[in-house]
Amino acid sequence: MPKSDTEVAIIGGGAAGIAAGRRLAKAAIDCLIIEARPRLGGRAWTVQDDLGNALDLGCGWLHSADRNPWTRIAEAQGQTVDRSTPPWQKPALPVGLSVDEQKAFGRARNEFLERLEVIGRKSPDVPASNAFEPGNRWNGMIDAFGTYFSGAEFEYVSALDFDNYDDTENNWRVKEGYGTAIATHGEPLAAVLDCPVLQIDHSGRRVKIETAKGAFTADQVIVTLPSAIVAEKEFLFTPALPEKTEAAAGLPLGLADKLFLSLTNAEEFEPDSRLYGRTDRVATASYGLRPLGRPLIEVYFGGRFAKELESGGEAAFAEYAIAELAHLLGADFRKRIKPVRMHCWAADPFARGSYSYAKPGKAGCRLALAEPVDGRLFFAGEACSEHDFSTAHGGYLTGVAAADQAIAARKR
Ligand SMILES: Cc1cc2nc3c(=O)[nH]c(=O)nc-3n(C[C@H](O)[C@H](O)[C@H](O)COP(=O)(O)OP(=O)(O)OC[C@H]3O[C@@H](n4cnc5c(N)ncnc54)[C@H](O)[C@@H]3O)c2cc1C
Repeated sequence: MPKSDTEVAIIGGGAAGIAAGRRLAKAAIDCLIIEARPRLGGRAWTVQDDLGNALDLGCGWLHSADRNPWTRIAEAQGQTVDRSTPPWQKPALPVGLSVDEQKAFGRARNEFLERLEVIGRKSPDVPASNAFEPGNRWNGMIDAFGTYFSGAEFEYVSALDFDNYDDTENNWRVKEGYGTAIATHGEPLAAVLDCPVLQIDHSGRRVKIETAKGAFTADQVIVTLPSAIVAEKEFLFTPALPEKTEAAAGLPLGLADKLFLSLTNAEEFEPDSRLYGRTDRVATASYGLRPLGRPLIEVYFGGRFAKELESGGEAAFAEYAIAELAHLLGADFRKRIKPVRMHCWAADPFARGSYSYAKPGKAGCRLALAEPVDGRLFFAGEACSEHDFSTAHGGYLTGVAAADQAIAARKR
């Protein structure tokens, strides 16, 4: 049985919880991760296909990789960091979208982003969709790009928050899986798994954490739950913390789901090439061919469209992708592809989505969610990051910050 008393309890063992735990352990503070799933990593999750390829069902890209702490950690673990150019920074295959059309789309998207930057710096905050040029032929495709970036269509997303994101545009990958690197970093930490937290009672001298496996007590608690979970659990804290529920509600989790397909005679395509699905609407998918040179297709679905497909289960994603690829590459292409793995993140009870975006007018919720309570409750997780939100390195940095706040409060 895990010990039921600790100095700092960490609720959630994803990127943020693991980073917080490692920071506390370094300061020789006793801590325990309490995690609902049977594994560490949270929205970072690597599985293997039959050929032994690592498939990242959650985060896959070391965004801002040159300053991303996970890059250094993965390399120190002996994992292989691949620095080749990502498919979206190269021209796509000229199938369904000619080279000239791709250039026109690129220009329209850049102009949209320039307008978005201008309105993002003005007050009051408005939906990012205000940056669309009415009637522009490329609006659907630009919005589809928004669903991959934010997990939501631009009409739902704060222009200010979108503009706050800080990107060095270096995007690398871990060959053995981003999820592998993150979970491996958590291995030395004390953790109790399969243990959903039901309530955090901070009314007494020590904090009491009620879980499916009984109660735990701690001096301090670091909460790293996804913002969607904090928002939906109105009774998570006793006494209630309505300011946290409200801040979390301003930061819903957008949806991005990945489907991996196996591909025969894959050599026909360049490694890390790319195909767009529909180019005239937001409801479509994006296809990464031969990721890391492997005989696979990585299909990305986002926003409302992904949500709709989730209601039909995993089969609905495969059916859509296979039909769209057959339309682009010919009916015979169906025979070359087969669904391998995917995960429905909105249906996942311990995530309720993929990554956070701020609703218009709610960019300030990130700092409000991160604000400590009473020197005993601390908050971390990608949604708490003002400039690296939505990402695994954002999770890491907020985890370290929350642990530092807890350490400082202990000294006081
Ligand atoms: C499909 C997809 C693609 C992505 N692509 C990228 C990418 O390329 N690059 C990138 O940087 N990021 C990407 N992300 C986002 C990235 O995975 C997350 O931002 C990051 O992993 C979040 O870490 P976290 O610690 O904040 O939250 P989480 O990883 O969600 O950790 C929170 C933990 O809390 C646990 N939990 C939930 N409820 C309870 C409860 N009641 N009791 C106890 N524990 C509970 C969860 O199980 C989880 O382990 C992607 C995500 C998805 C889903």
